[in-house]
Amino acid sequence: MAFDRACLRDADVDGRTVLVRADLNVPLEAGQVGDDTRIRAALPTIRDLVSRNARVVLCSHLGRPGGIPAREFSLGPVADRLSELLGTEVELAPEVVGDRARAMAAGLAPGEVLLLENTRFEPGETDNDPELARELAAVADLFVNDAFGTAHRAHASNAGVAALLPAYAGMLLEREVSNLSAVADDPDRPLVVVLGGAKVSDKIGVIDRFLELADQILIGGAMCFPFYRARGIATGDSLVEEDGITLAAGALEKAEGSGCELCLPVDLSLGREFDPATDRRDLDGVEVPDGWMGLDIGPRSATGYAGRIAAAGTVLWNGPMGAFELDQFDSGTRTVAEAVAGAAGFTVVGGGDSVAALAKFGLTDRVDWVSTGGGASLELLEGRPLPGVEALKAA
Ligand code: ADP
Ligand code: MG
Repeated sequence: MAFDRACLRDADVDGRTVLVRADLNVPLEAGQVGDDTRIRAALPTIRDLVSRNARVVLCSHLGRPGGIPAREFSLGPVADRLSELLGTEVELAPEVVGDRARAMAAGLAPGEVLLLENTRFEPGETDNDPELARELAAVADLFVNDAFGTAHRAHASNAGVAALLPAYAGMLLEREVSNLSAVADDPDRPLVVVLGGAKVSDKIGVIDRFLELADQILIGGAMCFPFYRARGIATGDSLVEEDGITLAAGALEKAEGSGCELCLPVDLSLGREFDPATDRRDLDGVEVPDGWMGLDIGPRSATGYAGRIAAAGTVLWNGPMGAFELDQFDSGTRTVAEAVAGAAGFTVVGGGDSVAALAKFGLTDRVDWVSTGGGASLELLEGRPLPGVEALKAA
């Protein structure tokens, strides 16, 4: 299914006031923007609107202030960084809605950009309060949702306001939905899905769906241990999500009758504890002795996975193969990341830690699409409709 919502390019914005919900939820360090990836990801939409003479009113949440204004959750540092990146002053309104915010929005000249304060300073934001949505909508002629990272939530600043104004998809949101959907909709084959990370429960929805769509699912990370336990294999002191064992058993059973091969690691790297300086040993097998924990997939598994990735027509990767933050245990994740980077097929990577792993290995630019949305990308891949997308105008 192609993207079926009206996009920014379809909108006449000249001289009009456009409310843009962006995802500017960046990490702050000592009052400064730490990683500005999300701000950069929002720039194409903002630049497009500015170049077409729109009056741009930006809004976003940052962190979880819980409906109360708090200085440490102010978007002030984001306004500063945005001003630098755009090369033009972006003013910050001291509130989300209210007389002051309305007056500042009304005072914008064409091509100027205003940032409203953190939407989660308003208790109505996460409740999708219609009154807050009405007040937000009152400052603008049309609405653009570019906040893919929160599209899986129906909040006042995305779904609420979209119901009240002509509402379009921003460029980032459009590309996220198109690229992530492309993995499931008529992918080039073989379709290989690589899943890792800490918990089966986080990714069981994706496993379930792709057991019906993919040619191979390759499992790594601590997620493999509930699968071993479901098969009666000892996991020693490894991180095992107990509730995940039943889910893993269900997935193994579903895989039996499916056209999809569900692959588990065949060897592991072990440590004593989750610590950079822990003793390490390689296990040519997967039966983990007591006193040891599996912290990475082993070299035979990694090489096998890399070969399947290289032969794939489409690759989706979500979740590291091990505790890649510890240098001793990053080689499985590195081998998979290098394979994804070098793959000839269409490659998509999602998940905060997988994206951090790509960055650690300097491979970010060599993947076709790196998703900025964690929870939203998982829900989309599960085949669930995203409220923030559903609320937009049909194309
Ligand atoms: P993503 O953010 O890419 O979706 P997750 O959040 O699901 O990934 O999982 C990432 C976390 O899983 C990392 O912090 C990593 O250290 C941890 N992890 C992966 N494998 C193991 C393992 N074998 N033992 C302990 N932790 C692991
Ligand atoms: Mg994570």
